[in-house]
This record gives sequence, structure tokens and C-alpha cells, in this order.
Amino acid sequence: MKSAPFELHEPTTVDEAVSLIESLDDPTILAGGQSLVPMLRFRLANPDVVVDINNIDALDYLEEDDEYLHIGALARHVDVEQSELIADNYGSFADSAPLIADPQIRNRGTVVGSVAQADPKGDWGSVLIAHDGDVVVQGPDGERAIPADEFFLLPYDTTLGENELITEVRVPTPVPNEGSAYHKLKRKTGDYAMAGSGVRLVFEDDGTIERAGIGLTAVDITNARASDAEEHLEGEQPSAELFEEAGELAAAQSNPESDEHGDASYKERMVDVLTQRALADAAERAGFVKRRVSQ
Ligand SMILES: Cc1cc2nc3c(=O)[nH]c(=O)nc-3n(C[C@H](O)[C@H](O)[C@H](O)COP(=O)(O)OP(=O)(O)OC[C@H]3O[C@@H](n4cnc5c(N)ncnc54)[C@H](O)[C@@H]3O)c2cc1C
Repeated sequence: MKSAPFELHEPTTVDEAVSLIESLDDPTILAGGQSLVPMLRFRLANPDVVVDINNIDALDYLEEDDEYLHIGALARHVDVEQSELIADNYGSFADSAPLIADPQIRNRGTVVGSVAQADPKGDWGSVLIAHDGDVVVQGPDGERAIPADEFFLLPYDTTLGENELITEVRVPTPVPNEGSAYHKLKRKTGDYAMAGSGVRLVFEDDGTIERAGIGLTAVDITNARASDAEEHLEGEQPSAELFEEAGELAAAQSNPESDEHGDASYKERMVDVLTQRALADAAERAGFVKRRVSQ
């Protein structure tokens, strides 16, 4: 089936896009089209007006400064997958990118589009939560940064204002003694996660865990923070036992639903295991090598 007809706008600057979004009646933004185009073709989305942002070259970046890693709204999953900056310094991002969908979708789909879609099975939201990241948006009143914790409301529903465009997502640049990782269970290439866990750990020089960030995928109504596990880890020395306890706490705080891929108790067990593995990898990458939990 083909999409219903719509009016198409193709701005070339962020200012032009923001003015268009404000002046048009309920426009839909098109980025990589990997979620939107199938919905158009199946007529699950029937917008009258589409604003295609693919010609805004200024949104095509993946860069780091003293404060943040910035991922612009036109950075594709493959850009993260192939970035040396990411490979060298952002373990959780490097782990996630090649696990998303399939190569075709990764070539076109954007990180920001995935966050905007707010599918609880999307991976980037969990990584953003683990890293205490922000969603940066531009609207008629200027720019604002929405903490990832405050961005996701419900499946496919966010706190993005109706006249706002997401220009980038960002996470703090790594500090000394930091490591991160992402583990995900999916049935086969091209599938979304059945469960996933993103972890960021920051250690003090003596090996005490100073900050723990854990974001969970596909096991709640949004990407979700495993705050009980984070609190349990902070102030402690890493050990396999501590990571086991944290995995159990993350599982207990998750709210997966049973479906054709597995029942809720199985997914909770997966949260436990995936979180333990991500914690072990993050600790190792931070330079605090610990015995990996059994695979
Ligand atoms: C078969 C399949 C498997 C997939 N598997 C995974 C997976 O394992 N993990 C995962 O994370 N994702 C997965 N995805 C989703 C994929 O990551 C898409 O790329 C992503 O959901 C949407 O990104 P996009 O750039 O294609 O956005 P689009 O499809 O263009 O847009 C998606 C939505 O976001 C809005 N939007 C896009 N950009 C902006 C912006 N800058 N500001 C405001 N709103 C915006 C659009 O209006 C639309 O509502 C999968 C998709 C498919 C079809």
C-alpha cells in the first residue's frame, strides 16, 4: 500500500524547520523514515503535512567537546557503529549500535529518530538514561535540554512540545575511571530487544563505585531507570556478589509483559543476567577488572 498524499516541506536550516513546524498545522517530522515510512505505507500514520529534515546539513554530526558527546539529529545508527571516537570511549554506544535492527535500517535510521519514537523496545533511550543524558530541542522559545529521565512518558509519547524539533541528544564526556556497556537479548537479527540493560559506572581512585547508571530496555512502558540497583551499587567496592545483587534489584524493579517471545518471569531473569554482564563489562572497561558472571 502507498501512503496517503501529504504536503512535503524540506527546510535546509534549523531555524527554517522550527518556523515551519510552528506555522504548519500538526506537521510530522521525517528523519530516517525507518519507523515513519512503514507507518505511512500501512496508513497507521496519515499526516497532512510532513517536514523532512534530511537537508539540514547542520544536524549531521557526531562530536565531542569538553562537556558532552553530541549526536545530531541526522547522525545515523551506522555513524555510531563506525565511529572511532565511540569505539575508543563510549562502550555502551559501541555495544548498542551494531545490535540495532539490521544493516539497512542502521544505514538510514537516526539515533534521535529512535529516541523521538519512544518505543520502550528502542535501545538508545536506555543508553541515554544510563549516562544521565539529555534530549536537546529547539522551539519557538529557543533551546532547552530535557533530561532523558523526563523525556519518556508512555510508549510513543514524550514531553517534546508540539512545536519543537529535537536537534541532538548528548551525554557527558567520560570522566577518569569510567566504563560503560550494553547487553541485549533478541531472537534474531532485525528484531527489537526482548530485554536490554545499559550500564555506566564511575569509580573513585580506590575502586569504590561513585556513580552507577542503569537503563533498561523493553521491560517497562518506557525505557526505565533501575534506580534501586544504582543505589545499591554506589559507595560499594565492585564484586561478582554485588553485581548479582544489583541484577536482582534491576529485575525486581522491571515490569515486563508476557508475549509470544517469552513470559514476564523469563524476561525478569534476563534483566538480572544482562545487567550483571553489563556491570562486569563496564567495570572492566573502567580498569577495575572483575570476574565475569557466568554466561
Ligand atoms: C524492523 C525494525 C527493527 C528495529 N529494531 C530496532 C532495535 O533493535 N533498536 C532500536 O533502537 N530501534 C529499532 N528500530 C527503530 C529504528 O531505530 C528507527 O531508525 C528509529 O525508530 C526511527 O529513526 P528514524 O530516523 O528512521 O525516524 P523516522 O522514522 O523518520 O521518525 C520516527 C518518529 O520520530 C519523529 N522524529 C524523528 N526525528 C525527529 C526529530 N529530530 N525531532 C522530533 N521528532 C522526530 C518522527 O516524526 C516520527 O514520529 C527498528 C525498526 C524497524 C523497522
